[in-house]
Amino acid sequence: MAALLSFLLVATVTAPAAAQSQQLGVPLTSKGRFQLESAAKPQTTQAQALQRCLAAARPSGAGSLSVTFQDDAKGYKLLQTRNAQLRGSRIMPLAFVQPASAADVSAAVRCSVEAGLRFVARNGGHNYEANSLVGGGVVIDLINLQELKIDSKANSMTVGAGYRLGSLYSKLTLLGYVLPGSTCVGVGISGLTLGGGIGHATRALGVLADSVLAATVVLANGTVVEADSKSHPDLFWAIRGGGGLYGIVTSWKFKLFKAPKQVSVVRYRFREKCTEAKYAAVLGAFNAWQPWTLPKEVALAEVQCGYDSLQAQFWYWGPMSEANKTMASSPVFKLPNSYPFIHKEYSWADFVAQRMTNLHDETDWGNGNLLLSDMLQRLYKERSSFVAASLVPLTPLNSSAVKIIAKFMVQAQKHAFIQSRAWGGQVTAVADDFNAFPWRQAPFECQVYSNSGDARKDRSWVDGLLAAVHPLIGKAEYLNYFHCVNDPWQAYFGPHAARLQAIKKAYDPQGRIGGLYCQQDNIIDE
Ligand SMILES: Cc1cc2nc3c(=O)[nH]c(=O)nc-3n(C[C@H](O)[C@H](O)[C@H](O)COP(=O)(O)OP(=O)(O)OC[C@H]3O[C@@H](n4cnc5c(N)ncnc54)[C@H](O)[C@@H]3O)c2cc1C
Repeated sequence: MAALLSFLLVATVTAPAAAQSQQLGVPLTSKGRFQLESAAKPQTTQAQALQRCLAAARPSGAGSLSVTFQDDAKGYKLLQTRNAQLRGSRIMPLAFVQPASAADVSAAVRCSVEAGLRFVARNGGHNYEANSLVGGGVVIDLINLQELKIDSKANSMTVGAGYRLGSLYSKLTLLGYVLPGSTCVGVGISGLTLGGGIGHATRALGVLADSVLAATVVLANGTVVEADSKSHPDLFWAIRGGGGLYGIVTSWKFKLFKAPKQVSVVRYRFREKCTEAKYAAVLGAFNAWQPWTLPKEVALAEVQCGYDSLQAQFWYWGPMSEANKTMASSPVFKLPNSYPFIHKEYSWADFVAQRMTNLHDETDWGNGNLLLSDMLQRLYKERSSFVAASLVPLTPLNSSAVKIIAKFMVQAQKHAFIQSRAWGGQVTAVADDFNAFPWRQAPFECQVYSNSGDARKDRSWVDGLLAAVHPLIGKAEYLNYFHCVNDPWQAYFGPHAARLQAIKKAYDPQGRIGGLYCQQDNIIDE
């Protein structure tokens, strides 16, 4: 079938000069935040140049060209991001392009460059700060890159960069495979892998980026290359944990793993609300348990406080009899007033079905429901407003840090949660510089999330917590829980920052591809 390249001209909008200078490493404004300039010249000429170039390129031979303006329904839909706080009006891209092959992506890149425009790729649209939109630039939306080839002899798969996890999980699960991706099905395979990728199998199999065998990448000048350990090894290293800053990945080759026979899920809830003292006791017990030292059969171990509840859980790859032994070693599950909310052994298919629906507490979805595409569609459309960030302490928390986190949490528990997930296991089984994912030695990561309905309140709570605890634990953060920071290279890449900056310079010397933008400030008052 002829590939389709559609070009959607969203608007002849303002040229947000400051947005274009929001790249990593560019000094911030005096407020310490990125700012957009409000008015500039319309970019009609650039839009026309882009349109002309794409029409002439017709990379797939028979591609059609459609143009959509700002008030067009399709243009509006394409502006929607997973975080509903980011309404797009002031981070308005000039155009959207929806390529269907690597050759199409290459043409879109070359034409953007020729028109003097910056560009970003978009996959699942889940970036917390809408980094898959670029003010005044071109969004290369990969939704039509949906190739999937599974090689069951080699236990590997090649997957188009437009896939989202739900569709992928449903296919792999039926074949008895597991991919160590995120616990949320709407997340895109590309965004997740580029940032590392943690979720339901991280301790057992490592971060998702560790499973990548090769990738096809369109470089900033439009050249298409294969990246693996021998060809473009630096680029290959960077795209596994270093973000989407060095090229546009059009397909990924992953190692696949056989799914375990069963998963034993142990989830305890505490009867009391998440008070300061109670949360400090649970987080302290989690620390004392040192779940990052457990065998990797404990695929996930976490405690979570928020929305008026407090719970601890782990997922064990094996029978419940073995899970119970592991649980017996944990001080968390011995704390008073807790009760087993879930204590159950699942087949792999049932387990995944539960994770996919996010209805795991209430509903026991069986195998038969696994491929319900309407359910996936509903979940893919889900949006909510939030501000979130992460804490990645490089050593276990001391009691002062636990107290600070507990104090902040309790102030906000009706509209916020903090989820702490142990790392270790397979995450630390490879060398620290195996790929660009920088924080392997961290014992765990905490996601801090607030959705009060008031963006200022959410931001102030998240930033306040981070500022209070950073002096005790350092400023490391996890790229996939991206939020506004003053020194993103350091915060997100730490020991790998210098190498990644050099790779960025070599592969994108003009700084045309994406960036790490802080965009929420620009829409907060709308
Ligand atoms: C509800 C929700 C649940 C989440 N759960 C988890 C979780 O369990 N574990 C976890 O680790 N993370 C999780 N995340 C975070 C998520 O992994 C990141 O937001 C990730 O970047 C989203 O990828 P995406 O493709 O959906 O997003 P997008 O916004 O489309 O892309 C994210 C970034 O990657 C770039 N990019 C995308 N595709 C390409 C490509 N092919 N080539 C080059 N650059 C590209 C974009 O330009 C953008 O900068 C969650 C996010 C949300 C909103």
